Order: sequence, then structure tokens, then C-alpha cells
Amino acid sequence: MKIVALAGGVGGAKLAHGLAQILAPEELTIIVNTGDDFEHFGMYICPDLDTVCYTLAGLANPETGWGRVNESWNTISNIEKLGGPAWFRLGDQDIATHLERTRRLKEGQSLSQITRDFCNAWGIKHTILPMSDSPVQTIVDTDEGELAFQEYFVHRRCEPRVKGFRFDGIQVAEPVIGAREAIESAEAIVICPSNPWVSVDPILRVIALIPVPRSVPRGEGKKIIAVSPIIAGKTVKGPAAKMYAELGIEPSALAVAEHYRGLLSGFVLDDLDAHLSDNIETKTLVTNTIMNSNSDRARLARVVLHFIGSL
Ligand code: GDP
Repeated sequence: MKIVALAGGVGGAKLAHGLAQILAPEELTIIVNTGDDFEHFGMYICPDLDTVCYTLAGLANPETGWGRVNESWNTISNIEKLGGPAWFRLGDQDIATHLERTRRLKEGQSLSQITRDFCNAWGIKHTILPMSDSPVQTIVDTDEGELAFQEYFVHRRCEPRVKGFRFDGIQVAEPVIGAREAIESAEAIVICPSNPWVSVDPILRVIALIPVPRSVPRGEGKKIIAVSPIIAGKTVKGPAAKMYAELGIEPSALAVAEHYRGLLSGFVLDDLDAHLSDNIETKTLVTNTIMNSNSDRARLARVVLHFIGSL
């Protein structure tokens, strides 16, 4: 069964890893958000892409969900001693990824080519694609003004109240080569349990499932299913529920289903939200969606694939 998974960072990477445990390499393409990419110390950093790659390669830090396992922090602690900014935690092994990526980008290589080479080096067999080779920058409009995404997310710890989002560059960002073909030949698109506002929406826009004026939706006739990142009104991690609340929407799995209204053929929500199922206009699957271990990820992926088969 050919599947395209859309993923942000932590939540997306977990389900993508579950799918990769079950599907053969030629059956799975993971398209990853690059809207939170940014430049720091002259390095081009792709937090979501790296989280997905490290997770599939078995190199991710299991405690944080981001960064590398068995990491050391010599560089950032020495930068801190020199009075430099240390709010974005960069491990020594992780820095190697950013340095080499930046060197290649400066040579004129594309982000998708670099990602392919890195995946090969890390032994990843499934296809991981950045959503676009051209930069898209998520800007968060807050009660303290507009903030670049990592400034809001990491430096300000999501404290400012959110008023809206903007994705600079999205109007001209084409999907990378291979994304369109993967979508066309896939039986289904799985929207992983990632932040709908800042992880999934940018991908949906770039691949034109949410139409932007220049293009026609490309997912018509496809099964599209989403897994809720919100469980019992809360996120497992991150600001998605806080964002819903600040935008005047009660955070819930129902709100996530509404967010993707008109797009979905099926929606997966947690056992704790079983009571919401009847209010969701598409077909639903109620199951345990918490992925604490590798086997939890595989279990949820298996159930999701079975659900797709039943639609
Ligand atoms: P980020 O870019 O690193 O914030 O990552 P994502 O957007 O991919 O993931 C954030 C979302 O993942 C949050 O809304 C979490 O609630 C959700 N999430 C994380 N772990 C799990 C999990 O085990 N199950 C479910 N259902 N959602 C999860």
C-alpha cells in the first residue's frame, strides 16, 4: 500500500517511524514541514526535517524527541561562556548536520538533494522529502508583535499570545521533485499528529491540498486521513492546544477535525475522546494514539493502515 505521510517534528516523526516499521521503502514517502527552518550562527537549521531523519535513523534523543542520542554540548556551552546566544540548544553531533548542510547549500545543492544524501549516510531506506526547496518562513503574529517561528517557539517558549500565522515565501514555493509523483501514486495521505497550524498547514499549502490561487488541488480522489495531535483537550507536547485557545477555538480533537474540514476521508482520535466521535463529519477510528515506545508507533501505524483499507 503506497502512502504519503505529512509530518512536522516530534509528533509527526513518531507516526512516520511507525509507518516505516511496517511499509517497505518504496511504499512510504514522508513530506516534512520546512516552515520552521531558520539561520543561526550562519548555519541553515531544519528542525522538523532533522527530527524526522534522526527518528527514522534511530539516532533521535528519546527523552527530548528532538536532537541526537548520546549528544555532547561542548560547542554551545563554550558559546554561552563567550556571551553568545544559547537559547537554541545545539548538540555537537547535531551541529555537524547543520554545518555540512549549509556548506552544500552554499555550493548550490538543493535541500532535497542534501536530505537524500544525508538519509543514505544514516541508513534511512524510506523517502524523506522537505516540502520545498525554496525557503518558507513561518511568522507568528502575537500580542507582542510578529515573531519568527523559532523566536516564538524556543526563545520565548510560546509565551506570547498568538493572533495568527503567515508563511512568507509560500506563494512561490513549489513542492520538491518527487512529492507530486508520490502523491499521485499513493493510495492515501496520512496527516501525522503534528501541529495543524504551524507544521501541517504549510505542507498542505505547498502541495496544494489547501488551494493557493496559483494551483489546483492535487489530492482529489485520494483518501486523506488525519491523526489528532490533541488528546483530551491537551497536546502531548508543544503549543497546538494553546494556539487553538488563543485563536478563540476550544482545543479538542473535534477542533482538529474541523481544521481539516472538507479534506478528510477519515479521522483518528484517541480513546479518551471517544465521546467526540459522533460529532465528527467524516469516518472515525477511535484508538490509543499515544506513542511512547517504538512498538506503540508500529501499533498505531498498523491500525491506521487497516483503517485506510476499510475506507
Ligand atoms: P514540532 O514541530 O516538534 O512541534 O512537532 P509536531 O508538530 O510534529 O508535533 C507536535 C504535536 O505532536 C503536538 O501537538 C503533540 O500533541 C503531538 N504529539 C506528540 N506526541 C504524540 C503522540 O504520542 N500521540 C499523539 N496523538 N500526538 C502526539
